[in-house]
Amino acid sequence: MQKTCLDCGMEVGFSTANCPKCDAVIAMQTDGSILRFDIAHNRETIPQSLAKLSEALDEARLGHARALRVIVGRGQIRDEVIRQLSWLKHNAEIMDFDHDNGNTGALLVTIRGKSF
Ligand SMILES: [Zn+2]
Repeated sequence: MQKTCLDCGMEVGFSTANCPKCDAVIAMQTDGSILRFDIAHNRETIPQSLAKLSEALDEARLGHARALRVIVGRGQIRDEVIRQLSWLKHNAEIMDFDHDNGNTGALLVTIRGKSF
């Protein structure tokens, strides 16, 4: 599979760090889109939800989305997801995360680009 450089349109490999044509940093390119994942509305256990979170992050990293909207509900899953995201932020695997417009059942995870 290939990924397209948003600056020059060159097809590059998924693991390419810098575009060989225009030298853009591929991993930081974003089309501004937000992916949406519901990880807590199907009676998931906490480990299942955390696995879904990590799959969602992997998928987001492969594309050009700027952020990920994660629907976490309001229970224990939400607390565990916040704990996991804090850790990922500490390790610079995500840029930031926050409650989505005051909606406590959803979190907005910034993957790349500017943090708003
Ligand atoms: Zn390029």
